[in-house]
Amino acid sequence: MTVRNALTVDVEDYFHVSAFANSIDQREWGDYPLRVERNTHLLLDLFDENQVKATFFVLGWVAERTVNLVEEIHARGHEVASHGYSHQLVYNQSPETFKQETLRSKSILEDIIQADVNGYRAASYSITDKSRWALDILIEAGFEYDSSIFPIRHDRYGIANSPEHPYRIDSPDGRSLVEFPLSTARLFGYRIPVAGGGYFRLYPYWLSKAGLSQVNHRREPFIFYLHPWEIDPDQPKVSTSWLSRFRHYNNLDKCEPRLRKLLTDFSFCTIREVLFEQGMLT
Ligand SMILES: [Zn+2]
Repeated sequence: MTVRNALTVDVEDYFHVSAFANSIDQREWGDYPLRVERNTHLLLDLFDENQVKATFFVLGWVAERTVNLVEEIHARGHEVASHGYSHQLVYNQSPETFKQETLRSKSILEDIIQADVNGYRAASYSITDKSRWALDILIEAGFEYDSSIFPIRHDRYGIANSPEHPYRIDSPDGRSLVEFPLSTARLFGYRIPVAGGGYFRLYPYWLSKAGLSQVNHRREPFIFYLHPWEIDPDQPKVSTSWLSRFRHYNNLDKCEPRLRKLLTDFSFCTIREVLFEQGMLT
């Protein structure tokens, strides 16, 4: 039987990304033209064409301004999950602030869709060794799974050598949640990230496909992520450092055609469905 993989979208706009945090102050977000509704609609139509359901991690700031979009994601049969409220890196927040904004984003989404929101993904995968305390707060807030840990070494995120497949994390009070780490593969003797986003735009398609196939050959599901702005080559350009420009703008025009191939080469569904099939959620 084919392994089903988790398809995920982090619903935020081009000006929210951590790569631009030094160039764009949070108070200026309202000055930028919103592209997220248009781009998320393109993804929703593409997913319909391919008859796949996905998990959409929606930023609270976006949800407040695009209530219809969140309703539509839910109505079209996809899973709505939380991407926090303000896209600040978790390890730069106090536990108290993190808790407040996590509860705030969860209740904004639940009020809109009138259903429970049980999944969480941190801004820029910022649950690291410095911010493991966030997992206890997520458990306390009632989340059943998290997908914020990248098992690699990177300047902004990652817990190197942490597990590469879904696993359970216990909190001191005896409760637990499932962590679905961002997918990696062994290529050329190294553990490399193959989970999507900037890596998907950077690598030639055959390399992403080889890495993701390797995960499925182990009979394990992979998790794939994308942002709505990654299929929008016409977005307004932000002036920032060379590295940030490269990470954000590299191969934006190649992303959608590659995504179309990916959707036909692999089988996808929501995170909740994958974890259910793996016997990790009931
Ligand atoms: Zn994000």
